[in-house]
Parts: sequence; C-alpha cells; structure tokens
Amino acid sequence: MSPKEICVLGAGVVGLTTAIRVQEAYPTGTRVTIVAAELHTDPMSIRYTSLWAGANHMSFADGDATQTKLDKETFDVLWEMSAPGSESEECFLRITHRTYSSKEALPHPLTWMPDHRILKGADLDALPGSLSGEEYSTLTIDTPKYLAYLSNRFRRNGGTFIKARVHHVRDIIEGGYGLYTPDLVDRPHPSAVIVCAGLGARSLGGVEDQAMYPVRGQTLVIRAPWVKFGRSMELAGTSPTYIIPRRNGDIVVGGTMHANDYYPVPRPEISEDILRRGFELAPELAPPGTENPTIDSVRPLIRYEGCGLRPARKGGIRFEVEWVTEIAGRGDEKVPLVHQYGHASYGYQSSCGSSTIALELLSEALDLRKSLASAEGA
Ligand SMILES: Cc1cc2nc3c(=O)[nH]c(=O)nc-3n(C[C@H](O)[C@H](O)[C@H](O)COP(=O)(O)OP(=O)(O)OC[C@H]3O[C@@H](n4cnc5c(N)ncnc54)[C@H](O)[C@@H]3O)c2cc1C
Repeated sequence: MSPKEICVLGAGVVGLTTAIRVQEAYPTGTRVTIVAAELHTDPMSIRYTSLWAGANHMSFADGDATQTKLDKETFDVLWEMSAPGSESEECFLRITHRTYSSKEALPHPLTWMPDHRILKGADLDALPGSLSGEEYSTLTIDTPKYLAYLSNRFRRNGGTFIKARVHHVRDIIEGGYGLYTPDLVDRPHPSAVIVCAGLGARSLGGVEDQAMYPVRGQTLVIRAPWVKFGRSMELAGTSPTYIIPRRNGDIVVGGTMHANDYYPVPRPEISEDILRRGFELAPELAPPGTENPTIDSVRPLIRYEGCGLRPARKGGIRFEVEWVTEIAGRGDEKVPLVHQYGHASYGYQSSCGSSTIALELLSEALDLRKSLASAEGA
C-alpha cells in the first residue's frame, strides 16, 4: 500500500514540529512534504516569526487547562531534548528563571516547573516595585539553531521542502506539488493538508481567518556570555521586560506587545526603551568588573535589533478539520485541511503538545491507524 501524501503548509516551528511528528508516528504510512514561502535559511523577515522568538519556556497558560496541557507536554519533550549528551543539546540552555510582578500575589504560579519556589522578602527587594515573584528551572532555545536542527531531522526522515507561496489551499490539492516544482510533478497529490501558516492564515485563500491578528514584539540581541540566568518583570505601567540567555552567549532582551501593529522594522525609540528596561531588570548585562555600570556600558554589546509578528488569534489556536470537496480532477474524493495555527506568544513552548493534537485530527480524518494496521497485516 502506498503511503499517504501529507502536505504541511508552513515551515515555522509549528510546521516543522508537526511534520516530524507525522513522519515519526507513521514512518511507513505517510510521506510528508513541507510547502512554505519562507524558510529558516532565508534572511530574517517580518513574514517568518519563528526566527524572532527569544525563546524560553515560560507558560502563560494562566489557569487554562488545555493550554497548560500543551505547554506541559512540550516542556517534558524539550527538557529531554536539552539533556546533557542528547543529539539536540546544543540548541538549548538550562537555566534558573526568575519572574517579578507588581501584583500582591501571582494568580497562577508555575508550581509544576522544576525547583519552583515563590519569592519572598529580600528576593523581592532586589527589584523596586515588585510585590510577588517566582523562580524555577527551565530552558531557553537558540531559535536559529533549533529550526536548523528540526529541518535536518525532517530531511533525515525522508521529508521534502518546496519553497513556494500558496495563494489558495485548493491550488495545491487540485494541482499537486508539480505546480510549484517540476521535480515533483509525478508525486501524487496530497491526501491531506495541515495548515501551519501562522499569521499567513489571515490572507491564505480558502482559509482567510479574520480572527488572526499580529502582536508585534521588538527585541535587542546582546553579546553577554557571562549572563547565564533568565529574568522577567511585569510591573504596573510598563511593558513586560525579559532577558533570555542563549547557549551561544547571546542574550535576547525584550520586549513589547503591540496588537495589530504590522510595522516591519525596529523603531529606534523602542530599542532605547528596551535597553533601559533591560538594564534596570538585569544590571549584570554590563561586562563584569565595569565601574558604575550604566546603559552605556551595555550599548556596545548590541549585536542587532529586530521585530516579529506573533500570530495571535481571537479564541486561541485553531485546531479543526475542514473538508475540501468538489476538487477538479479528483472525482468524489474529499481532502481534509487540518488547521493548526494561531500560537501567539507560545509557539515554541506549546509546539510539541500542539503537534499531538494535529496528529490526532489527521489520524482520525484519514483513518491512518486502521490503514496502517491493514497494510502491516497484508
Ligand atoms: C519577540 C518575540 C518573542 C517570542 N518569544 C517566544 C518565547 O520565548 N517562547 C515561545 O514559545 N514563543 C515565543 N514567541 C512566539 C513564537 O515565535 C511564535 O508563536 C511562533 O514562531 C509561531 O510559529 P509558526 O510556525 O506558527 O509561524 P511562522 O514562524 O511565522 O511560520 C509561518 C510559516 O508559514 C508560511 N506561510 C504563511 N503563509 C503562506 C502561504 N500563503 N504560502 C506558503 N507558505 C506560507 C511562512 O512562509 C512560514 O514558513 C515570540 C515571538 C516574538 C515575535
């Protein structure tokens, strides 16, 4: 029995993670092709969010049971991937992260994180204005390295990339991969399409989800290999501020959260504000031994600044199957679209849990377990 042809539309962290998940769940039952307009190897751009993320695992599930489940599952997978000696260890840095807040008490402390403790007394005095806080072990992700790792793993599993912009989901279902590359003109047309287009889902024909909107985030990347801890603060009247150290010695300093702002390049006044807030949160960003450090001690360490559009969605991530029918040239056949987009600020930290749900929807839609069992029995 020939394998099912699965098309994953999108090559951000969500598309890559899900493509691998499908390959590894059904190694003989599926063949996976990723079609994406932007890849992680392209120059960083506003059209591809995954290269702009910090990133760390710091759940914002805020008491939401479904999101907590996705984040926890992902944490367990990434923690294992970051273990000393693992093949992906270099993509991660395990750290202690501390969060400060101006609320009297944290509404949903992350008690499920390793080594969790609530900050009290002198711990809080360290940051004026903070009234509560917590500390726990977590990991940070060197996002360019991690995306490269996922891409290589996908290729190693037999996956193919096609770099192309899809204007309407029907195009690929009706015309197949040959529409985009003559090399694959003989490959059977997809049996299913998993839509991992991030913010692109707002304009992609056949999806055009108007619940999608951008939440713009601007950051600075600073060279400070001596900083090996994470820290964040949410104090009344200011944007959330954070520092995320990467294994390679870069520190991502943020941030901003501006809904419906599409501005594609960094704004200088925001970079200046991030530098000020970042230094206030972590004076340790200044080189060790600096006398009377100020933000000017940190300024020469800036490697680059940037901004990305978090793919947010009213109502949260869309997990849903929609059937495409009346496909020219395919008789009565109907093809499932598995929607999996809208990961906002948590695309990395929920990626593995999210791929479990997408895989489940795909398996049900195509009856993959049954067709695999009958192929094995044959
Ligand atoms: C400043 C900042 C900090 C962040 N920090 C964190 C963090 O610490 N932890 C965390 O978990 N998350 C973080 N995020 C969020 C995270 O980056 C996103 O949730 C995640 O990258 C979304 O991934 P995605 O794959 O859905 O989208 P993207 O990475 O944008 O990928 C979308 C893909 O779809 C393709 N595509 C779209 N439309 C089409 C089309 N019509 N045809 C073909 N291809 C198409 C694109 O080319 C691309 O390949 C942060 C984001 C920002 C901006």
